[in-house]
Amino acid sequence: MTKITGGCLCGAIRYKIDGEPFRTANCHCDDCRKATGSAYATNLFFKEEQIKILQGTPKKFEHLADSHNTMIKEFCSDCGSQVFGSGANRPGVKNIKVGSIDDARFVKPQVNLYTAHALSCSYIDDKIDNFQGMPPST
Ligand SMILES: [Zn+2]
Ligand SMILES: [Zn+2]
Repeated sequence: MTKITGGCLCGAIRYKIDGEPFRTANCHCDDCRKATGSAYATNLFFKEEQIKILQGTPKKFEHLADSHNTMIKEFCSDCGSQVFGSGANRPGVKNIKVGSIDDARFVKPQVNLYTAHALSCSYIDDKIDNFQGMPPST
């Protein structure tokens, strides 16, 4: 795989990543829709140490998910792009929002989450794992 680089819309935040995501998920939950301003979020999950911030300091916003876990969104305070996300229940793990990646053609989601909340205009690939909410194991 080519090296992953990315950042926010205005370029104030830039990052690079070593290695591949261990999981890539489309999330159709209401929170992801609000947070991204889009139909759903595509999140690539990495160990925190794989991610190196080259410049900029993301602003953080914390909120409670319906799982009662504290979720953290990290975004550019200048242009508003969401770049990273994490959850208090998964220390050491961060997700990258697909839209922040410079060349995201390699991205292949393995799962759709919260399909019960998906918009009718969103395509759900029935050849991958799909869950109406969160998978039972998590
Ligand atoms: Zn920015
Ligand atoms: Zn979500």
